Amino acid sequence: MLTKFHILFLALGLLLLQSIAVAQSCQSQRVKLQMLGTGGPELLNERASTGYLIWLDDKASIIIDAGPGSLQRFKQSGAKYADIRAIFFTHFHVDHSADLAGYVKGGFFSERNLNLPLYGPSGDTFILSADDFVKKLFSAAEGVYPYLDPTINPQANSAYKLLPHTIQWSYQELDPIQVYADKEFKVTSVSVHHGPFPALAYRVEVAGCVISFSGDMSGRLNTLPDLTKGSDLLVAHNAIAEDATGVPQLLHMKPTIIGKIAGEAKVKKLLLTHMMERSINRQDETVNLIRKSYQGPILFPRDLESFHP
Ligand SMILES: [Zn+2]
Repeated sequence: MLTKFHILFLALGLLLLQSIAVAQSCQSQRVKLQMLGTGGPELLNERASTGYLIWLDDKASIIIDAGPGSLQRFKQSGAKYADIRAIFFTHFHVDHSADLAGYVKGGFFSERNLNLPLYGPSGDTFILSADDFVKKLFSAAEGVYPYLDPTINPQANSAYKLLPHTIQWSYQELDPIQVYADKEFKVTSVSVHHGPFPALAYRVEVAGCVISFSGDMSGRLNTLPDLTKGSDLLVAHNAIAEDATGVPQLLHMKPTIIGKIAGEAKVKKLLLTHMMERSINRQDETVNLIRKSYQGPILFPRDLESFHP
């Protein structure tokens, strides 16, 4: 028999479930993903190289990658450098990182006075770690721009410091790890396979929404379905067509692999970027191949386009 206490208990339980559901549902209008660069490294089209910007409540908050040209798109977006909470690098190839020095120099003329954390993978024979990348750009002793040393030197006077953090990349440790959190944002990363180059994928959670980024990867470590599970938006790099052979297919995902990941992770919307000559004119074929495993919306964004999750 139901007593008053049972009913009260049930009502409280329902309230709790409802509040969990509200906390978990995506507050889409508060969050925006903007494309700062949807191209690859080629010199052939008007697209900037890779870069993405996440806005929260109309404030630019998170930058993912800083490929050449993406800084110009950042300026065009109306974002304020002082509002950026952190910069994340998927890897340190030129087409993902060459504009960092431009951000740092430009930031000298901004109102920024809060330290800026920067995240990226560890290095190997072919590529520097996040810490070394920053040091070799800006340090007085070994940097290519030694005059910008105050931005990283704790002893020097500057409005803010760039604070690099190296995230361990590995072929063996394949569990996603949380790398960043503040009051609103949580960022998780996982190692991905990009040939011999250390590279990371990221999952960004904010206001109950999830936006994930594959970065450049071949899919061989199979870490993306877990990382991107249930994402509202997945930005996947479509740098090659299905018939790619040799080195390109060791570095990048074929369309069928993108489809399998999006289908397995049940992502709500798929955005295809990092377009190159070998993929940009094959979009119908790409969509058909992805459709074998994934039935959600598939979009090919242009630079500066924005998406609510
Ligand atoms: Zn790339």
